[in-house]
Amino acid sequence: MPETAQEVLNMIQDENIELIDLKFVDLFGIWQHCTFHRSLIDEDAFTDGVAFDGSSIRGWKAINASDMAMVPDPKTAWIDPFMEVPTLSMVCSIKEPRTGEWYDRDPRSLAQKAVDYLVSTGIGDTVYCGPEPEFFIFDDVRFGQKEYEGFYHIDSVEGIWNSGASEDGGNLGYKTDHKRGYFPVAPSDTLQDIRSEMLLTMAKCGVPIEKHHHEVASAGQCELGIKFSNLISAGDYVLTYKYIVKNVARKHGKTATFMPKPLFNDNGTGMHTHMSIWKDGQPLFFGDGYADLSQTALYFIGGILKHAPSILAFTNPSANSYKRLVPGFEAPVNLAFSQGNRSASVRIPLSGSNPKAKRFEFRCPDPTSNPYLGFSAMLLAGIDGVKNQIDPGEPLDVDIYELSPEELSKIPSTPGSLEGALEALENDHGFLTDSGVFTEDFIDNWIQYKLDAEVNPLRLRPHPYEFALYYDC
Ligand code: GLN
Ligand code: MG
Ligand code: MG
Ligand code: MG
Repeated sequence: MPETAQEVLNMIQDENIELIDLKFVDLFGIWQHCTFHRSLIDEDAFTDGVAFDGSSIRGWKAINASDMAMVPDPKTAWIDPFMEVPTLSMVCSIKEPRTGEWYDRDPRSLAQKAVDYLVSTGIGDTVYCGPEPEFFIFDDVRFGQKEYEGFYHIDSVEGIWNSGASEDGGNLGYKTDHKRGYFPVAPSDTLQDIRSEMLLTMAKCGVPIEKHHHEVASAGQCELGIKFSNLISAGDYVLTYKYIVKNVARKHGKTATFMPKPLFNDNGTGMHTHMSIWKDGQPLFFGDGYADLSQTALYFIGGILKHAPSILAFTNPSANSYKRLVPGFEAPVNLAFSQGNRSASVRIPLSGSNPKAKRFEFRCPDPTSNPYLGFSAMLLAGIDGVKNQIDPGEPLDVDIYELSPEELSKIPSTPGSLEGALEALENDHGFLTDSGVFTEDFIDNWIQYKLDAEVNPLRLRPHPYEFALYYDC
C-alpha cells in the first residue's frame, strides 16, 4: 500500500490508471464520491485538494458558500474492487479552499483535531480503536420475483423463508432457531462463502483482517473481525468495511444492512468499540488497579461513563439505535463497567498480563454511528475523565440483567430514545467543545438536523403496530 503522494502518483503511472475516485464521509457516516481524470491529480492535489460543490451534501453548506476541496490521503489508496474500469480510490478530508482551513463540519478532519488535542494535553500521543461492526444479510427483493411490499419483509429474511417456513410446507430442519445463530456450521450457516469474500476483499483494500463468523441472531447476522488501529485509520476501515459488505452482498443478489435493530425480538447490531491510549510507544492503560487497569484508564472510563448519555448522540445517533439498547439481547442498558461482563456498557476484556492488550470495550455504539465522530466523542470524554480525575465508581461484576428493580435503580441507564440522547448532548457538551474540536455550531447543527430529519418525522407518522393496537377501538 502506498504511503506518500509520490508513491500514489507512481502507482497511477505504473498501473496505467486513468481514473481516480475520491471518497469522503458526510456527517452521517455515508461515503460520497466523485471520479476524476488523472490529469487533475498532481502533487498539489494532496495538499490543496481538488475542488467540488459541497452545497447538496446533507447538513453542510448553503448554496452561496459551497466551494470546497477534497484532500486525498495517500495512505488510503487502493484499486476499487467493484468498478469494472480500473479506478484508484482514495479517502479524503475536506478543506475550505478560500482559507485553506479544514472544514469544521468535516468529520474526518474533526477526528484529526481530536487526536491533536490529546497530544496537546500531554496525556498521550496515540489512540487505538478496535471497532466491531455487525450487520445482517437479507435477500434483495430487487433481484427476485417478489414485488416490494414495504419495509416489513420478514419473508425475505435469509434463513427464515429460504429454509422453508411452515405455512409453505417447507422443511424447517436447518432453520436456525431464535437467537441460535452463534455459530453452528453449514448447512445452518448459509453465509460462509459470502463472508469469506467480504473479508478477503477487505484485505485487498488494506484493512487488517482477523476473522469472520455468524452472529447470534437467527437470520443472517454476521461479523467480520478487523485489527485495532489508530483512530483515523479505524474510521477509514469502518467505512471501507461497510462499502465492501454492501457491495459484495449486492453482487450475490443480497442486501446488507447495518441498522441497529432490523428485527423485533432478536439480537440487534452493535459496533462495540475497544480503545486504549499510548504515549512514546508505551501503553498507558495497564496498571495495578481493578482488572489490571492503570489510574489513567480508570479516570478515562470515569469520563466515558459520566458523559455516556451525551456520547450516545454520536455513537448511537439513530432513532432505531434505541430499539437495540433494551435488556436481553447482549446490548448494554446500564452505565457501569466490569471485567469480562458483557451486560455492562464498559467491559474490560481479560487480556492476560500483556500491557499492550489492556483496553476497555464500550459496548453501546452501533454502526449508524459516523465512526470519526463517535470515536472522537469517546476520546474527548475520556480525556475529560483523566484531566478532572473522574472516578468511575465501583465495578459491577454481576449479570446486570439479573438484578432486582431496586438494585437496578441505583445504576444509571442509557437514554431511552434519540431525543433523550440529543437532550443530554444539549445539556452536556463542554467536554466536546471546550477543546475547540467540536464547535458550538457543529453541536447545534447536529441536534437540529436530527430533530428535524429523524425524531419529528418518525413521531408524526402512525406506526404499523399502532393499527394492530388501536384500529379496532
Ligand atoms: N449483537 C450484540 C449487540 O447488539 C452483540 C453480540 C456480541 O458480539 N456478543 O451488541
Ligand atoms: Mg466481536
Ligand atoms: Mg459481535
Ligand atoms: Mg465485542
